[in-house]
Amino acid sequence: MVSVEQSHGNDSHLGQYLGQGVGALQRQDPELYRLLELEHERQLETLSLVASCGVVDPSVLAVTGSSIVNVTAEGYPGKRYHAGCRNVDEVENLAIERAKRVFGARYVNVQPHCASYANHTVMQSVLNPGDTILGMALDQGGHLTHGSPVNLSGKLYDVHPYGLDDTDALDYGRMAELAQEHRPKLIVCGTTSFPRAIDFDRIRSIADEVGAYVLADVTHIGGLIAAGLHASSIDAAHFTTTCTFKQLYGPRGGLIMMGRDADTLSADGKRTLSQRIQSAVFPMMQGSPEVHTIAAKARAMGRLLEPGFRELAERIVANAAAMAKALTARGYEVVSGGTDNHIVLFRAPGGLNGLIAERALERCDILVNKNKVPGDTRSATVPSGVRLGSNTVALRGLGPSEMDTCVDLLDTVLRAVEPGGGGAFHVDEAVRADVAAQVHRLCRDFPLPYDRSAAADLVGAGAEL
Ligand SMILES: *Cc1c(COP(=O)(O)O)cnc(C)c1O
Repeated sequence: MVSVEQSHGNDSHLGQYLGQGVGALQRQDPELYRLLELEHERQLETLSLVASCGVVDPSVLAVTGSSIVNVTAEGYPGKRYHAGCRNVDEVENLAIERAKRVFGARYVNVQPHCASYANHTVMQSVLNPGDTILGMALDQGGHLTHGSPVNLSGKLYDVHPYGLDDTDALDYGRMAELAQEHRPKLIVCGTTSFPRAIDFDRIRSIADEVGAYVLADVTHIGGLIAAGLHASSIDAAHFTTTCTFKQLYGPRGGLIMMGRDADTLSADGKRTLSQRIQSAVFPMMQGSPEVHTIAAKARAMGRLLEPGFRELAERIVANAAAMAKALTARGYEVVSGGTDNHIVLFRAPGGLNGLIAERALERCDILVNKNKVPGDTRSATVPSGVRLGSNTVALRGLGPSEMDTCVDLLDTVLRAVEPGGGGAFHVDEAVRADVAAQVHRLCRDFPLPYDRSAAADLVGAGAEL
């Protein structure tokens, strides 16, 4: 690990405190430290193509480990229920101001503990139990919290799911029909595995016709929106939610944002929609905020505002396109024929399924995740597809030509897999060892920002993305 003394290069009290913590952990709890160290090494040496992952910068990690965590700060800046919140108030305001600038939002709440809570909170703010909503079906690419029967959202509300048409495009026509038929109060959009752009304006028009609110959960594409590489949902939707750890490369947490509807009056005719969100986050859904996470959100937003982020986002899109192209060239069936974002979804070839593909690739230190493909007849635990994402490889600095190499390695593994009975499989050891060695070389040539070999640059260059 990069020691704190090294990366701070100063003797501030905070720096010493963080360094003491690592030293004490090493000495006092070697069992746990060893596991953390192993995990660190695993991340350095594996090629993650998991679409729902990002990687935090060491500076973001330092913030989450700072002593600001000790402050209990129920309430909002200037209106806390405890003393000692002077600095915390400034940190929260900084996070809000930066998030507003990153997304061009008029209102931001930085307190949601995660995107799932953010979604529940928006629903709580404008819906009553039993109200009707439209959400994208889980097996079409929607998220659990968009009304899936196994989630609280599916239990509390009367959900009518929409999905994709037979060309794997988002079925706006069906969404409009469902809206006319069921007069929902809320339409939830945003997905976990849809590789194409989403037309938020069109969804808003569908909602306006029936007087519904729109919640855009942009968790997967938040970074592309921030960089201007995907149309923004901020003004198109009434509410935008996102997590901060996938494409925003920040800490685990969520945001709720609003644009032109921030001051729109809610149904009671008294409070605005943003006022309703404010009281729905606290005190309706959450207690004290995670102030260290809010501070880390501020740090992550600061990085998104740096000019280098646009370049990274461009690489995310170019890399995903290159992977889709390379897969197609090797005969794979890529869902919707390509991608507009960071996601590539393809059908596991031959006698394989998504689970075997995922496991075989993991043995060679290539990380992907099994995923349903549209119209999948298999289950979510053993689905037919594999989902790839380019967030982490783009952050490592790999570009489109290396994506061809990555797909080549992936293809080599999948060709070498011999499926057995009951989910068992075999990969030839010579193939496995060769692919793993090539993966390790790539990982060393394109290190993560907290890799040993990158540490020297970090000290000098500061916050380069
Ligand atoms: C990952 C994801 C979430 C959940 O985010 P958490 O912060 O883990 O709760 C919500 N919505 C979408 C679309 C996601 O992809």
